[in-house]
Amino acid sequence: MLVGFYPGSFDPITNGHVDIITRAARIFDRLILAVGVHHGKTPLLSADVRVELMEEVCVPIGADLNCEIKVITFDNLAVEAASANGATVMVRGLRDSSDFDYEVQMAQMNAGMNRDVETIFFAASASTRMIASSLVKQIARMGGDISPFVPDIARRRIDAAMKR
Ligand code: ADP
Repeated sequence: MLVGFYPGSFDPITNGHVDIITRAARIFDRLILAVGVHHGKTPLLSADVRVELMEEVCVPIGADLNCEIKVITFDNLAVEAASANGATVMVRGLRDSSDFDYEVQMAQMNAGMNRDVETIFFAASASTRMIASSLVKQIARMGGDISPFVPDIARRRIDAAMKR
């Protein structure tokens, strides 16, 4: 059984993440989506809400593609969390050269810690390549329309949270 592990902040999940998750679900038997809760900045959404949204959006995608999708949180090293959850492949997305520089360095340091977890990269799709959670967060905080960038369930949840 091929188990993938896709870690991230997912604050919030965007159409860019969904693109990577959908493509990875075609390859893996099980895909673990791991929400990192070790975060310096104040998150837009709590870890519980991030997990809930990811389950709502991604579990049906996995079911359609014959991939079991599980959403977890982790607060330790991603490579350790991957191993502890039985994954042998870490999934990451690449948008541009700054992602490349950062992600390759991280993959190499992860490999230095654990040779049994291999990182594979998905090149971002053209239609979602420009999307970054950090910018979505800024737009949402300033009352802008994030509907082009995030799944509809996420947009509704964020809009509701902003009105409070
Ligand atoms: P992190 O805080 O670890 O960067 P993110 O949730 O922002 O967490 O991203 C997790 C992973 O998803 C990273 O590998 C990132 O490069 C990738 N990613 C983020 N946005 C996109 C996108 N629009 N297209 C493809 N990959 C993306």
